[in-house]
Amino acid sequence: MIDAMAAQQQTELVATMRRHLAGALIAVDFDGTLAPIVADPGDSRLVPGAIEVLSTLSRAGAHVVIITGRDAATVVRLGGLDAVPGLRVAGLYGLETWHDGNLVRPDEPESIRSLRAQLPAVVAEHGMPGVRVEDKGLSLVVHTRRSPDPQGALAALRPPVARLARGLGLEAKDGRNVIELRLAGSDKGGVLRGVMRELDPVAMLYAGDDLGDLPAFAVVAQARAAGRDAWRVGVVSAEVPELADHIDVAVNGPAELVRLLQQVAEGAP
Ligand SMILES: [Mg+2]
Repeated sequence: MIDAMAAQQQTELVATMRRHLAGALIAVDFDGTLAPIVADPGDSRLVPGAIEVLSTLSRAGAHVVIITGRDAATVVRLGGLDAVPGLRVAGLYGLETWHDGNLVRPDEPESIRSLRAQLPAVVAEHGMPGVRVEDKGLSLVVHTRRSPDPQGALAALRPPVARLARGLGLEAKDGRNVIELRLAGSDKGGVLRGVMRELDPVAMLYAGDDLGDLPAFAVVAQARAAGRDAWRVGVVSAEVPELADHIDVAVNGPAELVRLLQQVAEGAP
């Protein structure tokens, strides 16, 4: 029964997005959504077919927007996304935007500089092997995926790291074997709301795989409740089981998301 309902949602998504493709909004997360999760974030790459389908959708008049916690320049470089015409990338939860080769980003605040100076010592103090810190410019991320016990390392590091962040007026957010430290008040829901206000899409979808996508899913749910053709597409995994409660359509991994987008793009010039 539940499977049949899910299949019906997917059929409706494809039919409606196709019908309103010119002017539709296709907003997607990057890591775990378009690019498989890898041990080293510097190794992440788009799944095959992603560039082609995003380009087709964009040429057909859809607004294609990547909303990510990473900095925009890195995501564009890793994904080869400058090949997609008209693409926008909202990086660092919307703190910066990249559009057609132009990057707009704010100056680095003092709190981030202090965090960069102090975080390595806090991580080292807990002596967890395999833990690394990723510097995203306007945010820093503690990764425990390469630790022998990722969940244990996360649990041990969360209190001291969160304390450091709080002391600097920053936010500490959990993700898939990561703790992300960033400026307060930025999330994917706020980014998506801004994009929707600007573009006023007739039909839309947002696709994501992680806890950081929940604020964006909440914005889509509001749009649905207000009668807009809007879908929450979850790229589901065993790592984030709670995602299932917040989505309309589930896909098993980035490759399956690309297949869904290919169905939407089918027949487009
Ligand atoms: Mg993700």
